[in-house]
Amino acid sequence: MSTLRFKAFEEVLQRVPVAPLVSYDKSSEIFATRVFNKKAMRDFMPKEAYESVVSAMEHGTTIDRKMAGMVATGMKAWAMSKAATHYTHWFQPLTGATAEKHDAFFEPDSSGNAIESFEAGQLVQQEPDASSFPNGGIRNTFEARGYTAWDPTSPAFIIGKTLCIPTIFVSYTGEALDYKTPLLKALHAVDKAAVDVCQYFDKNVTKVIATLGWEQEYFLIDTALHNARPDLNMTGRTLFGHAPAKGQQLEDHYFGSIPERVLNYMRDMEAECLMLGIPVKTRHNEVAPNQFECAPIFEECNLAVDHNQLLMDIMAKVAERHHFKVLLHEKPFAGVNGSGKHNNWSLSANTGVNLLSPGKNPKTNLQFLTFFINIIKGVHENADFIRASIASASNDHRLGANEAPPAIMSVFIGSQLSQILDELEEKVKSGKMSPDEKTDLKLGIGKIPEILLDNTDRNRTSPFAFTGNKFEFRAVGSSANCSLAMTAINTIMAEQLIQFKKEVDALIAKGTGKDEAIFKVLRSYIVSSKNIRFEGNGYGDEWVKEAAKRGLSNIKTTPEALDALVSKKTKKLFLAHNIMNEREMEARHEIYLETYTKKIQIESRVIGDLAMNHIVPVAIRYQKMLVDNVKGMKELFSGKEFQTIAGMQLEMIKTISAHVANITSHVEKMIDERKKANNLHHAKDQAIAYCHKVKPYFDTIRYEVDKLELLIDDTYWTLPKYRELLFTK
Ligand code: ADP
Ligand code: MG
Repeated sequence: MSTLRFKAFEEVLQRVPVAPLVSYDKSSEIFATRVFNKKAMRDFMPKEAYESVVSAMEHGTTIDRKMAGMVATGMKAWAMSKAATHYTHWFQPLTGATAEKHDAFFEPDSSGNAIESFEAGQLVQQEPDASSFPNGGIRNTFEARGYTAWDPTSPAFIIGKTLCIPTIFVSYTGEALDYKTPLLKALHAVDKAAVDVCQYFDKNVTKVIATLGWEQEYFLIDTALHNARPDLNMTGRTLFGHAPAKGQQLEDHYFGSIPERVLNYMRDMEAECLMLGIPVKTRHNEVAPNQFECAPIFEECNLAVDHNQLLMDIMAKVAERHHFKVLLHEKPFAGVNGSGKHNNWSLSANTGVNLLSPGKNPKTNLQFLTFFINIIKGVHENADFIRASIASASNDHRLGANEAPPAIMSVFIGSQLSQILDELEEKVKSGKMSPDEKTDLKLGIGKIPEILLDNTDRNRTSPFAFTGNKFEFRAVGSSANCSLAMTAINTIMAEQLIQFKKEVDALIAKGTGKDEAIFKVLRSYIVSSKNIRFEGNGYGDEWVKEAAKRGLSNIKTTPEALDALVSKKTKKLFLAHNIMNEREMEARHEIYLETYTKKIQIESRVIGDLAMNHIVPVAIRYQKMLVDNVKGMKELFSGKEFQTIAGMQLEMIKTISAHVANITSHVEKMIDERKKANNLHHAKDQAIAYCHKVKPYFDTIRYEVDKLELLIDDTYWTLPKYRELLFTK
């Protein structure tokens, strides 16, 4: 009898909701109380230091040593006023998680006493002994030092008793070893390129920021049940498990009332977020049972990325108090919807204008169309790179699984805007346009309504959908660091805008009027990027066929998708904007391939272990029970009567043997393939082998195991079943 499974289940039945730790009446009461934001800076720093940081935040100016010293003193005073005893540089290595190394403020002085110390040097730079972070060969052991450097654009915050300072993480030779460094460069590139284009429309624009509003999906599973599933514990997803009789078909979970236990967890988690300045706003049930979503108000992209990384940490920590485990994996349960992290993205000018929001008059609408059409064109030109930016072993389960956007990149814009682009295409003439034609065109553009009513967002199947005043990149995985996707989109947009300006300026130089030049270039983009636009059902098979006809890529698995990170085109793009050099790109490519291989390797081992240590022994034990029973029958009955009475059990005995034999032989073959893969020397070959030789056994083994689950006495089964994992509140 499986004691662990039943003990776990009993534990869950006895759970009482844990009351939230922090009680508050208004979110604004606690908002950003643990953040060294502008208000705190003003309170704790001299004016000149404050201004120096604000200027660094807003204009990217550097902060000199003297100022940094004042900032450090102010930051320490603030942190100590909040009872912090330690500080850490907080960074995002390529493991995908966040990293911290805590140091005490405490410092012994010469007289044998101690003081609390924190100086410019400690604020600006740290040297974590970081030789075991992934580096893709960038950091040889003889230069094993990496260093972290303060990112003043993302404010410091306090978790527990530790002051956390957001930093970049680079090798001693200056190469990026993290997610933040290239993102900051991409944001800088798009800022500059967008400002230049805005000059056509509004001379007051001097700064453009990218904005990001993510929507985090996740599952909550009771800790006891989670711990009784070694697969969940070690891989974040269930590798076996038959679908429950009731799944998500009744759609009764989506937006349903949130159970009290979960609600208390959410309140606690949100309180932590609010104190850290994460503007969480929305919470609701998702489609699958025990699946939920949390979304903040959008923010500047770099800050939003940091906040998402923080959120993922907070979620896990707070969950412990409530006896939950948070699953951020993209596909924890087969046959049940997986989780994503929609990235709502836009560009916002310092004049307060959202550049992806239709305006009030023809001029602002032309600006809107310019940015809108350029991003479509950019996605068209760089679809493979965008696909690569969301590639991971776990996201492969989701993309193209008829529940999430497919691996085919396309852009949805809605019927109203499609019509406007069609009109533009038709009305812009190849020769010189007459004043009447231009007026007519402007009138058409002037008619774009400021708010695009239900034109958008109804298509939930597009990976990249325009939703009224932003694009929603829906293919990002729930466990991903948003940085890579955001680095890709913003770099692509920067490049695209620069090309656009070049083309427009060339026409102007030849004597074409400004508006006409803009119209002409936009028209040529509408025509050349038409293939990427798709308004239909992205989950359907017809789209797969149609996309192939259009020549669009459909790269289903990660090892191949990652090629586009190091393609000639991407290299050129990254070099042009100084986002990464070739070594950094190659290193990343290798790290991602290795991560892929390791993930599949671990899953494969867990499958082998579980199959041989849990499933097969249980099957044999149950089979023995049947055999004993049949033997007993034979003593009592004979001949035809025995056949009738024992026939069904004899069949079951045989069926169990067949499943056990299949499991055993598949596991053996899988292990053989693993050995072969391990002997390959190149990261790409290994990843390909794991993907196409090892991974296919996962499904064949699972098929047999899930059949046994239905066959075997429930009390023998050791692993908590889907119905227990998903339907216990
Ligand atoms: P949904 O139907 O997807 O929930 P919402 O309008 O509620 O749509 O917005 C979803 C997300 O988009 C939110 O996180 C919101 O903050 C974000 N968002 C809204 N405007 C922008 C913008 N200009 N830039 C980036 N994100 C935005
Ligand atoms: Mg959304």
